[in-house]
Amino acid sequence: MVIFKRSEDLLSYLGAMRKLKTPVGFVPTMGALHNGHISLLEKSKKYCSVNVCSIFINPTQFNNADDYKKYPVTTEEDIRILEENGCDILFLPSEKEVYPDSLSKQKHFELGYIETILEGKYRPGHFQGVCLIMEKLLNMVKPDFLFLGQKDFQQCLVIKKLIELIKIPVTVVICPIMREADGLAMSSRNTRLSGGERERAPLLHQVLQSLKSNINASNFKLLKEQAISSLHQNNFRVDYLELARREDLKICEQLLADEPMILLLAAFAGEVRLIDNLYIN
Ligand code: AMP
Repeated sequence: MVIFKRSEDLLSYLGAMRKLKTPVGFVPTMGALHNGHISLLEKSKKYCSVNVCSIFINPTQFNNADDYKKYPVTTEEDIRILEENGCDILFLPSEKEVYPDSLSKQKHFELGYIETILEGKYRPGHFQGVCLIMEKLLNMVKPDFLFLGQKDFQQCLVIKKLIELIKIPVTVVICPIMREADGLAMSSRNTRLSGGERERAPLLHQVLQSLKSNINASNFKLLKEQAISSLHQNNFRVDYLELARREDLKICEQLLADEPMILLLAAFAGEVRLIDNLYIN
């Protein structure tokens, strides 16, 4: 695996590689790698001849300074994992490399509705930060395929919107959520959970599964109330639990027949904010 810290070097190396081998697959991450990240790399290896991962904890997408400060950093271990799993290129830039100028004066992306709901509503500015870093990374790597996790489903739609806005030719592949044996969605933030919080955390997935099993054309409101009350009883602070159309995340009060839909949940276990989702229909 070749590691680049400077975008200039990455660009010229990738330029040369692209002449020899294509397609190029790209997996952007914030590190503290787990099997969810590796499943994206595995998918990339299946489709692509050159596989690029990036690790950068992007300050502009954190709306909460404490969350940024406490984000786990395990770079040595990440490098070992990527090497072991056959990654070809790792881009590991510094903050100065990505944001050479001030962090505060950045461009704005017209994302419309998708930025006003769910994560966008509870984490103001978060998706602007996601777009800032993704535009830079996409321009540097110029991948043919971009591998993203369904775990961050709204982020996938935001990045698809960004790709439309900046007109970069890349195919987005959304990969399934990898879970621990007890159902908890894998996440770098899981390492911050206390013993008790970790024990309770699978409830998020259980609540979504139970909703999926029991939902019909008219009972979502009642099921949602019961689910939220069960989460509260188990000391979760719920940001949202919603049912939405998968295509555009239009929030729905009821299940729409014959329409791909998704249940989305965000809740705090102590200080740690967890998200999960489940496709229905
Ligand atoms: P992150 O490092 O959290 O920014 O995530 C980098 C990429 O990995 C994103 O596309 C995430 O959606 C994806 N990802 C995170 N957790 C999982 C998971 N449990 N299963 C599959 N993909 C994931």
